[in-house]
Parts: sequence; C-alpha cells; structure tokens
Amino acid sequence: MPRPVQYNTNVKPVEIPEGYSGEGFMATSLDKFVGLGRKNSLWPLPFATSCCGIEFMATMGANYDLARFGSERMGFTPRQCDMLLVAGTIAKKMGPILRQVYLQMAEPRWVIAIGACACTGGIFDSYPVLQGIDQVIPVDVYVSGCPPRPEAILDGVMRLQDIVQNESMRRRNSPQYKALMAEYGIQ
Ligand code: SF4
Repeated sequence: MPRPVQYNTNVKPVEIPEGYSGEGFMATSLDKFVGLGRKNSLWPLPFATSCCGIEFMATMGANYDLARFGSERMGFTPRQCDMLLVAGTIAKKMGPILRQVYLQMAEPRWVIAIGACACTGGIFDSYPVLQGIDQVIPVDVYVSGCPPRPEAILDGVMRLQDIVQNESMRRRNSPQYKALMAEYGIQ
C-alpha cells in the first residue's frame, strides 16, 4: 500500500532584498544582491576535533538538514569553502594548523566557533589547550554549549547569514578590517 505523500507547507522562498519593485521589475543595490547570494550558499569547512564534531554531523543529517540553508556542500579543501566551522577542543599545537587552514581560505571568509572549547577552551583550563580560537584567528559567531545541540549550531549559521547579508562588499578593503587582520599578523 503506498504511503501518503506529505508536503511541507512551511517552506517559503527567501525574502527579496530591500529596494523598489513593480510589475516585472525589481531594483536594489549590488551589495544586497550579492549578500543574498552569499548568505544562501555558504560552503562549510568542518574543523572538528572532538565531541562537538558529532553535533555538527547531526546538523548535516536528514533531521536537521543544513542543506536547507544552501550549505550542504562540505569541502575538505579550504580553497573551496567560505565558512570555517571549528568544533572541538583545540590544543595549542593545533593552533598554527588551524591558522594555516584559515589563511588558505579565499576572501570573503567567515568563522563560527562551535561549543565552549572552541570559544574559550571550555572545561580544559590547562596549559596544552588553546583558550579560545580567537587567539589565533578572528571569529564571527560564537555558539555556546558543551556540546551545543544541532539547533544551536543552526542558530549560529543563521546569525552568520545575517552578518553576510548585511556586510558591505567593500568591508574587506576597509581600514577597520585591515586593522583587525593586522592584529592577527595577517596581511
Ligand atoms: S565543548 Fe564540550 S562537547 Fe564540545 S568539544 Fe568541548 S568538551 Fe566536547
């Protein structure tokens, strides 16, 4: 006996950016148009070292389905990704490797720190553990929890989408951004 087909009636198209629209036309700024495209096609690069990585795996699975946000295409080469997801405890020895991965990503790139360990070192207040990845790379969104549930990770991705949507295309050339990079010794 065939199973009844159920359609998800909650699926909605993305909101159109601010601008002017009328019969058969729509005008907006290039910033908003590019932001809309970028925000809905973030390609994740998972840098998972421990338990929080399992939560990220659940986030990619069918129940939570990160693909709904246009982010199903995980890349394991930094050169083809723009959203670095750091999930897990980062030992100080891993710091330079994490930094190298970040540097290999092309601009524009964004970083989410998933879980207490990536944000602050978590419960590992000890000499071999990095007390937050923002000691070696800049972070855009922090997701709290030990571990955070997949809903929290999804919320972090949505907060990042807000940042990406509203980011000026010229931000990466701004003095403030260059100063931020300089703080981390990145040219
Ligand atoms: S925050 Fe908690 S769950 Fe996540 S890596 Fe650290 S110890 Fe594991």
